[in-house]
Amino acid sequence: MGALIGRICCGPFHSLSYLLTGDEGKAVLIDAGPPLDDLPRLLDDLNADLELVLITHAHYDHLMNVSKIVKLTGARALAHPADIEMMGKYWLEHLGRPPDMEPLTSSEIVVGDIEIEVLHTPGHTPGSVCYLLKGLKVLFTGDTLFLGGVGRTDLPGGDSEMLRRSLRKIFELEDEVLVLPGHGSETTIGNERKNLKEMLGMQ
Ligand SMILES: [Zn+2]
Repeated sequence: MGALIGRICCGPFHSLSYLLTGDEGKAVLIDAGPPLDDLPRLLDDLNADLELVLITHAHYDHLMNVSKIVKLTGARALAHPADIEMMGKYWLEHLGRPPDMEPLTSSEIVVGDIEIEVLHTPGHTPGSVCYLLKGLKVLFTGDTLFLGGVGRTDLPGGDSEMLRRSLRKIFELEDEVLVLPGHGSETTIGNERKNLKEMLGMQ
């Protein structure tokens, strides 16, 4: 698979989106926090159609522009059902009608030649997921794992025991897997192994 990955920055919350384009002119967007006003032009330049917007977790700073992107591109937006439920309640109380998103129903997503494995990694939120590009050894971690840190669990829906279990799953991945988080710089599993061991009480 010859996917190209672009990092889109930043907006008021310094959250990141990543655009994947494959060899067959199909594209996938991970998260929709940044303004993304240039996305249609970018897709045009790349000669790619956006098929899916995959949300790592349903915090506002990661999906605030999802409705706009869906409207502009006709893509479908997917998130874990536990976070769609959490988000629905929060939006109705505080922000109004929540964005329309479909529940992730499979652990494998294929868009053209882009193959993505969905890892359910609850803890930061109940429906946090990481997306693994198996062939390329790239992991999109949202707010579950960062360079030198892990997601906070003190927000509503957070659960530190669940996060530990999720990080155990991530710990099983190979050292060379590139970690592209929802905020801050990229890292690798190998780089984070020491922090993860500490978090997991393994040393
Ligand atoms: Zn978050």
